[in-house]
Amino acid sequence: MEFESVIGLEVHAQLSTKTKIFCSCSTEFGDSPNTHTCPVCLGMPGVLPVLNKEVVEFALRFGIAAHSKISKFSRFARKNYFYPDLPKGYQVSQYELPIVEGGFIEIDLPEGKKKIGLVRAHMEEDAGKLIHQRDVSFVDFNRAGVPLLEIVSEPDLRTPEEAGEYLRKIRTLVRYLKISNGNMEEGSMRCDANVSVREKAEEKLGTKVEIKNINSFKHVEKALVYEIRRQIALVQNGGQIVQETRLWDEKENITRSMRSKEEAYEYRYFPEPDLVPLLIDEKWAERVKTDMPELADEKEKRFVKDYKLSPEKASIFTESNELADYFENICKAFHGYKQIANWMLSEFLAYLNKEGKEIGDVDMKPRQVAELLKLVDEGTISGKIAKSVFAEMWETNKSAGDIVQKKGLVQIKDENKITEIVCRVVEENPDVVDKYKKGKKNVMGFLAGQVMKYTKGKANPQLVNKILLEKLR
Ligand code: ADP
Ligand code: MG
Ligand code: ZN
Repeated sequence: MEFESVIGLEVHAQLSTKTKIFCSCSTEFGDSPNTHTCPVCLGMPGVLPVLNKEVVEFALRFGIAAHSKISKFSRFARKNYFYPDLPKGYQVSQYELPIVEGGFIEIDLPEGKKKIGLVRAHMEEDAGKLIHQRDVSFVDFNRAGVPLLEIVSEPDLRTPEEAGEYLRKIRTLVRYLKISNGNMEEGSMRCDANVSVREKAEEKLGTKVEIKNINSFKHVEKALVYEIRRQIALVQNGGQIVQETRLWDEKENITRSMRSKEEAYEYRYFPEPDLVPLLIDEKWAERVKTDMPELADEKEKRFVKDYKLSPEKASIFTESNELADYFENICKAFHGYKQIANWMLSEFLAYLNKEGKEIGDVDMKPRQVAELLKLVDEGTISGKIAKSVFAEMWETNKSAGDIVQKKGLVQIKDENKITEIVCRVVEENPDVVDKYKKGKKNVMGFLAGQVMKYTKGKANPQLVNKILLEKLR
């Protein structure tokens, strides 16, 4: 029997507003516990929430970008449950009338593009955070009331890789939209993965299991691979999948049963009586639409057209808005787009990766990179020298011109000077020259290498080859 897996993701993106969703406390992360709190987010009795308009704008931005339907009338709902980090005894969320419905996210797969449908996206408040220390637990309410956008996909994903790709697409999107930093490791993007298996020919969906507590892209894929294997083995051995919530244990690399799945009715959802329904008029949605930044997919297409990049390269440079801007700013200062693209891929991004840095951490300005590539283009320095100059630029943030001047790295294009060195090399290597004369033409490379060695890599390679060839003849 052949099985296939079916996956649907629920992604919580923390919205990067300055203040919380229903009060004016700061959303700043990392400050002392309980310093960003007030009667509203501490859940004191009798206080009233006031909706943060920016949260709505951010949700609208997402909905428009995801080709979704924007609800003209939506409303908040109470999701009731008890937990020590939830002082009110309920979380204000949206239920039967979310702000965003439908739409899709397009992902890139080796076999082409695929649209992953969205069920909905809704606004809600985050809970506080429990800190466990030996036999005591503390609660920090700084996070209570921080706005979240919960994005729920249709069960359209088929493999762990597709799920990973979908998550990366969402991260890129929320970053481009400047509504969330999308950082899973820091907990500003969290994901619950729903997964089931079924026989390939079967149309009916299998019983799903929800995996919670996954905090990195790598672990989402790993958790799914494990869970799919577990489910298939279970079914093949005549067992039955039970609908449940499982936890991902990243030390053991397994999922563990946490509880049987809760049903929606257990939360006793009902409309939030302390907030009026949310009406979004045409004008508001229109305005958000016209203010939309250029998104990754459009930018990618434009890069292919404007800078003659392959779609693969364009998609690398448009992975983040910051990187795309950086690339474009180099292109503004120097028009050798192909050289820029190659340099970015072979050198620049390699340095970034090696040091685990983000583009925002780089002090070097785009025009400094442009200056370096211009020096190569004009023939002032060789490509090889450029690499060492770049290494120094990276360390010291000095300009390419300065480094080249101070170290005397300017390329030698003086034919007399090169001829002099060629003569010397030929004299010093009579046996090699002899081999050349007997037909072993590939010793040319060795001789040219010797010339380069004498000039510390500074001789113009074309001239070296030309003069060497003349001399040997
Ligand atoms: P629940 O009411 O249990 O939360 P939902 O219908 O709201 O379930 O779906 C939650 C998530 O689970 C969605 O992302 C959806 O795509 C996904 N999902 C639903 N059914 C299945 C299934 N049989 N297999 C895998 N994922 C599923
Ligand atoms: Mg759900
Ligand atoms: Zn507050």
